[in-house]
Amino acid sequence: MITKNLKNILSEIPKDVQLVAVSKTKPNEDILEIYNTGHKIFGENRVQELVKKYESLPKDIEWHLIGSLQSNKVKYIAPFISLIHSVDKFKLLKEINKRAKQNDRIIDILIQFYIAEEDTKSGFDFDEVQSLLQSDEFLQLENINIRGVMGMATLTGNEEKIRDEFRTLHNYFHVLKSHYFKFNNDFNIISMGMSSDYKIAIEEGSNMIRVGSKIFGIRD
Ligand SMILES: *Cc1c(COP(=O)(O)O)cnc(C)c1O
Repeated sequence: MITKNLKNILSEIPKDVQLVAVSKTKPNEDILEIYNTGHKIFGENRVQELVKKYESLPKDIEWHLIGSLQSNKVKYIAPFISLIHSVDKFKLLKEINKRAKQNDRIIDILIQFYIAEEDTKSGFDFDEVQSLLQSDEFLQLENINIRGVMGMATLTGNEEKIRDEFRTLHNYFHVLKSHYFKFNNDFNIISMGMSSDYKIAIEEGSNMIRVGSKIFGIRD
């Protein structure tokens, strides 16, 4: 069933859209079932769970951290994490840089923007990011690589509202790209869309979707 769900989704999304299989709360057997089809990109939102899975599963899995991250936990994932989607504070960015350096790595990150009308969701405002990118302190961070943007839409049945929020994020991406990353080909990821809204997200320019329950089933 899990494999079938994955194949259905892969068959209906454009080739240039990457799928992050969100495996949070799901057991290793479920992850291995997907892994054995050849899919290697998985997303988790809790550091402790992610580290446990990293240690017990094949080492060529690309692990993405998609949930909110506390600075004091960065050290546990810094040795292996492929992409951190949820960078929502400058303090966190500095800590990731520090731990990346200690591990002799450059860590890929996305800037998470607050696009929803929900207090439970976090992220930067656009103005905050502009001043961050212009600051001297930022220019000294040599062990992070900003790959693009991430955002979560409001949980609502109002499709136009979701579409509007995704459009906003896409626009942020373009403004940042043209002002700060014009000659940087690595800045190319727009991570938006989950099980309930990835179709809208793709229509609005997403090239990385994070899908959990539609692959693995409802979480407890
Ligand atoms: C859980 C989660 C997802 C996946 O949610 P589904 O609705 O199960 O697809 C995507 N993004 C983030 C940030 C999540 O925490």
